[in-house]
Amino acid sequence: MELFKTTLGLGSYLEDQRQGKTMGLVPTMGALHFAHRSLIERAVAENDLVVVSIFVNPLQFAPNEDLNCYPRQLEEDCRFCEELGVDVVFAPSIEEIYPQDRVTQIIPPPALTSGLCGRFRPGHFVGVATIVTKLLNIVQPTRAYFGEKDAQQLAIIRRLVTDLHLPVVIRACPLIREDSGLAYSSRNQYLTPEEKILALGLSRGLFLAQKAFHTNPEINGETLVNLVQGELGGLEVEYVELVHPNTLQPLSKVEKVGLLAAAVKVGTTRLIDNVILHLPSPIITIDGPAGAGKSTVTCRVAQILGMLYLDTGAMYRAVTWLAMEKGVQIEDKGAIGELVSQAKLELIPREDKIGVKINGEDVTEAIRTPAVTANVSTIAAQPAVRRKLLKQQQEWGEKGVGVVAEGRDMGTHVFPNAALKIFLTASVEERARRRWKQLQESEEPGVTIVELISQIQERDDQDSNRQEAPLIQALDAIVINTDNMTIDAVTTQIIQLYREKI
Ligand code: AMP
Repeated sequence: MELFKTTLGLGSYLEDQRQGKTMGLVPTMGALHFAHRSLIERAVAENDLVVVSIFVNPLQFAPNEDLNCYPRQLEEDCRFCEELGVDVVFAPSIEEIYPQDRVTQIIPPPALTSGLCGRFRPGHFVGVATIVTKLLNIVQPTRAYFGEKDAQQLAIIRRLVTDLHLPVVIRACPLIREDSGLAYSSRNQYLTPEEKILALGLSRGLFLAQKAFHTNPEINGETLVNLVQGELGGLEVEYVELVHPNTLQPLSKVEKVGLLAAAVKVGTTRLIDNVILHLPSPIITIDGPAGAGKSTVTCRVAQILGMLYLDTGAMYRAVTWLAMEKGVQIEDKGAIGELVSQAKLELIPREDKIGVKINGEDVTEAIRTPAVTANVSTIAAQPAVRRKLLKQQQEWGEKGVGVVAEGRDMGTHVFPNAALKIFLTASVEERARRRWKQLQESEEPGVTIVELISQIQERDDQDSNRQEAPLIQALDAIVINTDNMTIDAVTTQIIQLYREKI
């Protein structure tokens, strides 16, 4: 692992090393703990190269805050990162990042910064937005990782990336807690044992409200806030608020999703925490490796539950068909980007499958030709196509009609709040056997099972490491190994799981 303290050193190293590789950035202020670890592990799993930045950013601390005593432990942090497989730690000095007294600053929209923590920490989010923009420009990562613990920060960074057209994907990582319920924070080091016991009121109150919401999703915001407040005895409460997690605007009750967030002081230590409340969303995601039976099972589950089968494969095929129809070169990323951003896709449920229309034309049959099949993976690998279709998929999910979605990153990326996430898998041998049987039936024999096994292993490896939508199992997914199971048995199990959860 390399440690860089200057932008020049880091820049030269990255220029040399990146060569078309994907790169993940995990920005931190150091004093790394178990929650940082979850961000770093995800970055390591999804990228070829991972940079962890460690910088206690003076611009985001007010004069009366804990800038000077914020824990600094670079050597220990470097060992921590090395063990997790990080490639580079970037730990610049203040002079390196702010060589001038007054720097250009990034001012996020006041609607996002005036409430919650912003009310008590004026200027804080200008400092955060400025340092994050600088780090993104210095490192130029493919993806950057932020924790949901800092929910306001996350909403602001998402908005910043959109508004400034920054070419990076923001990955939100779940809030991680100690067994006691206390959210991990570098500031927990300041707490005395007595303060730690008092601090537990914060998570206890949020859990109580979360439970009340799950019992009665119609519960109003004020009651939720009061439930939290009731557990905060002995703490100095800055705020307890129910807001929308993206707009951060106050909610009188949860419509689809709400962020119940709080900040308190225990002695002189400031702690924040939150829970995300979402109405049971009728969304099921089915991810897993190629050949595990995802599409057949997804189609059946959707039929039985009367939900929309979100056939992502058909969507990519429709775009491919359109490109071919219009005579656009499929490798011409610019032209494909233009085409896809103006295309209108519709999915129409049919008796036994799903119909697809693109720009009003029914292409359900036309997208199944060998020519489309030959080109679809080139189209599906293009970031512009991914981005547009991702947005469309999420919009269908939001309509609340009920969606069963199948793919490689449905549970981790497209629908991280899905009601039920399934990771459908089968051993390589079993998948090879199934494929072999199919080939026998289609009268295209000739490939041996051993050859198929090595093809499938290679494909798994590519799928897990690809730049766009790598195959990753969501932390909260239920794994179903379909070896020795019939399609009916798998379908029934998923439906039972769904009924138990909803
Ligand atoms: P910090 O070092 O406190 O600036 O945190 C660095 C990153 O880790 C930020 O994106 C935080 O949101 C994230 N993080 C810190 N604590 C937690 C936690 N308990 N759960 C999830 N993410 C966290």
